[in-house]
Amino acid sequence: MGKLTPVTLALVLSASVAGSAPFASAKPMSPQPPGKQAVAIGVGGAAATVDPDATQSSIEVLRRGGDAVDAAVAAAATLGVTEPYVAGIGGGGFMVVYLAKQHRVVTIDGRETAPQAFQEDAFIDPATGKPIPFYPQRVTSGMAVGVPGTLATWAKAATLYGTMPLRRLLQPAIRVARHGFVVDQTYHNQTEMNRPRFQAFTSSRALFLTPDGQAPAVGSVVRNPELAKTYELIARRGAPAFYGGPIGAAVADTADHPPVAPDSEIGFPIRSGVMTAADVAAYTAPLRSPTHVNYRGYDVYSMGPPSSGGSTVGEALNILEGFDLSSPDRALALHRYIEASRLAFADRNRWVGDPAYVDVPLDGLLSKDFAAERRCLIGSHAATSPVAPGDPHPPYDTTCTGGGASEATGVEGTSTNHLVVVDGSGNVVSYTTTIEQIAGSAIAVPGDGFLLNNELTDFNPAPSSPGTPDPNLPAGGKRPRSSMSPTIVLHDGSPFLALGSPGGATIITTVLQTLLDRIDFGLSLPEAIAAPRASNLNSANTSAEPAFLAQYGSELSSRFGQSFTSTPEIGAETGIEFLPDGQLEAAAEPVRRGGGDAEVVCPAFAGKHCSKARRHR
Ligand code: GLU
Repeated sequence: MGKLTPVTLALVLSASVAGSAPFASAKPMSPQPPGKQAVAIGVGGAAATVDPDATQSSIEVLRRGGDAVDAAVAAAATLGVTEPYVAGIGGGGFMVVYLAKQHRVVTIDGRETAPQAFQEDAFIDPATGKPIPFYPQRVTSGMAVGVPGTLATWAKAATLYGTMPLRRLLQPAIRVARHGFVVDQTYHNQTEMNRPRFQAFTSSRALFLTPDGQAPAVGSVVRNPELAKTYELIARRGAPAFYGGPIGAAVADTADHPPVAPDSEIGFPIRSGVMTAADVAAYTAPLRSPTHVNYRGYDVYSMGPPSSGGSTVGEALNILEGFDLSSPDRALALHRYIEASRLAFADRNRWVGDPAYVDVPLDGLLSKDFAAERRCLIGSHAATSPVAPGDPHPPYDTTCTGGGASEATGVEGTSTNHLVVVDGSGNVVSYTTTIEQIAGSAIAVPGDGFLLNNELTDFNPAPSSPGTPDPNLPAGGKRPRSSMSPTIVLHDGSPFLALGSPGGATIITTVLQTLLDRIDFGLSLPEAIAAPRASNLNSANTSAEPAFLAQYGSELSSRFGQSFTSTPEIGAETGIEFLPDGQLEAAAEPVRRGGGDAEVVCPAFAGKHCSKARRHR
């Protein structure tokens, strides 16, 4: 296995002396930590991401005349530099787009895909016959790496719906990779958290740790000349530099021969993958129909299979539509929210997987009648989880007897990021990208400046109950089920809001709860994004943030028999709302995971760039 590679992610000086860094650019400059704000109101376009450099890339592209798709690609490419642990071309994601002129919603499926040689028992330990432990063993392996879909998504989006060539959209990211960005507390913490895993791989320690093996200090400047070079190659040759080209070949080679350091102290053998360069070359990011439900007059569009996001949010909304949630009894409404989530997750676990491999009864899962059948299981007391799934195939049973086997929720990571962009013409992008766990597999592609995902750990390694049909078992060429829920809501035929979140399976409940907060409970979008959360994934205990427990925990327990476990944070959303006065309100998470950044092209009452900017009416 490889010898130590030179330090390439240049480093780690205080911002004030960054110009003298070993890898300083020809045009020395000291990156400053960009200002960040959780809310921005204005016209002409808007963007919200988890990172100010990425939001700035978006706004820059919008100001130069790019559309929302152009700006989303530019932001995502920048996130690959500044948020390499939750984004980047080593991963995948789902993009939902509202095309204003055509008045329709389209989606691109950039989900990572298992290599053809990937077997159903890929995550079973032959010595024990049992699944390999999820973290860190299963996650930190070449076997967990799926063929990345992110660059294919950008290329497809830019070609079909953008106005600028991909090479232009990569320029802001290349600039940040060359000139550097200022390390914030979140980046520092995420590096620190992954230090033992990075130390295990020569490529990763060289890329992400200081020469003495530490996480870069808060306030220091980090550059990634390797990734700048990789992006420049893509800018010259397009996506074929990756799919069928040298970058893709390096991805497969790295998954199959992880560069384990001779002095690795990781403490378990790193399993190699089975990916070929042909697997990478064959990757496609297909267009898919969005999921759609009408909830109290709002048209909610989201991502269909292989994501379970759209179908599960949609089913829960349909169930909840039968209750008046806007009454002053908030605890009752939240009890019903928890129960609807519990039921929708039972159905998601039983029925949703890659549609190329399993027959997903999507129409049934999203039908109002099936929701009515499930609704009648919600009483005045918390159900006992795991509740059994329903059968979404008609005819529907209205006797409320239920049936079928119990299902538990599989393990998913809690990382990922979400971005939203609106342009001056009213096009909207809601885009969730991920490399699965924070820092993915922790294996960087040597010399190319990015991490490989561990998305194949989203497969269930074995049926969750023996003998129960499981739509999410591993198979060659299959896409693992996701929970990502990039969502766009229309009202009266016009865009109303777009939102999404990280958080593994809790993405679904986060998006659902935020929609309820906004539509039923009357919170503004920024208030809804900040509001305390609870999440039930068909588990006996609902996980809830301390602020949620303080406000509602005892009443939900005493009146409805709900039980909880406390968890520090659930989700970290971004969203944009079209305000009634024609302005845009961009909103990012204010606190969780260090907070994000929301910007508009023309802040309210500003003149610059804004002479032609119109309000959206
Ligand atoms: N792998 C997760 C999914 O596709 C997303 C990663 C996360 O947010 O943890 O649902």
